[in-house]
Amino acid sequence: MLNGPKIMSVMRRILRSRGPHHAQWMVTRRCNYRCRGCGVWADQESIELSTDEVERGLDILRDLGVWEIVFSGGNPLIRDDIGEILQYASRNFVTTVYDNGSLAEEKIESLRNVDFVAISVDTLDERKNDYLKGVPGAWNRAMHAIEALKGDGIPVGVSPTISQLNLYEIIDFTKHFVSRGIPVWYCFYWYDYPFENTMFPIGKKSDEYGISDKKTLADVCTNLMEMKKKNSNIYITHKTLDALRHLALTGERMWSCRALSNFLVIDHKGRVAGCHSQESLASIFELPKLWNSSRFRQLRREYNKCGNCAYLCYIFYSLHSGFSGNIQVLRDQWENTKSYMRSQTETKYQTS
Ligand code: SF4
Ligand code: SF4
Repeated sequence: MLNGPKIMSVMRRILRSRGPHHAQWMVTRRCNYRCRGCGVWADQESIELSTDEVERGLDILRDLGVWEIVFSGGNPLIRDDIGEILQYASRNFVTTVYDNGSLAEEKIESLRNVDFVAISVDTLDERKNDYLKGVPGAWNRAMHAIEALKGDGIPVGVSPTISQLNLYEIIDFTKHFVSRGIPVWYCFYWYDYPFENTMFPIGKKSDEYGISDKKTLADVCTNLMEMKKKNSNIYITHKTLDALRHLALTGERMWSCRALSNFLVIDHKGRVAGCHSQESLASIFELPKLWNSSRFRQLRREYNKCGNCAYLCYIFYSLHSGFSGNIQVLRDQWENTKSYMRSQTETKYQTS
């Protein structure tokens, strides 16, 4: 949980280091769902780092300057040791973990220390959500999980992937959850450009998902920007929405990619890459000696010019880099935490 000592520790890393500041760790490639826009479930693998290796990797990331970490997969909660990993990570990092809604309730004790649990739900339409997740009952399980975590004081929100399939619902979806004090944290559908040697293929090309109505996407961004002014439970920055709107309207990017500079990714085997679509570069245990190498500097320049994806997390990390960008992200996190604590207090007051 974000508190005074953790903020001080994070501040020291922001001040001391030029990055990386954000890491996404896909700690497993195993998944119990069958989402239609995702290629992970059709290509699973059981080899993964041990608990001890993940913890050693976290120490390395901390010493390099990383202060924010997102655990994803696969479904990270499928790991038996996820509670230990999250507890270890939460001491030093602003920590987020994803779940598709199937395991959070069962593993609620593992989630006590994290800063945010993102439950992926794409629509309020139960049948449609189950169709998208490829598993009957997915919507119901996700709703139960959200209620259970919220009731237990664990910071939880929903994370829809914006695609053509839910584009016209995103505003109502957002209103539904934020009016109940549940934050919304967005992803954006993308499929992995056909790179060679992609480290961790995720997105699957799907005409159903691909955004064909760009004008509506731009309008959704504009509406969310307006709604954000009045509601701190909309977890996406104005800058990110502005960049996505500009991309939808003009096809131009307002950002240069900061892969391997401000952010990096690690996979279930401990391999490191600038982003999941690029090739793996090294093991996490080799990272300290390679971070300032000429090879990495050259790769940073190449990635800086790359324009082959529009995953929202990478846009966000690219836009909010440097000292001021990091302070802005940290301030947002702190505001989100305060707003969540307030909503918890109000809920308790109303129910007591
Ligand atoms: S999107 Fe996530 S939950 Fe769905 S199949 Fe892929 S890894 Fe699993
Ligand atoms: S734009 Fe950046 S994050 Fe996206 S594929 Fe290229 S290097 Fe990776």
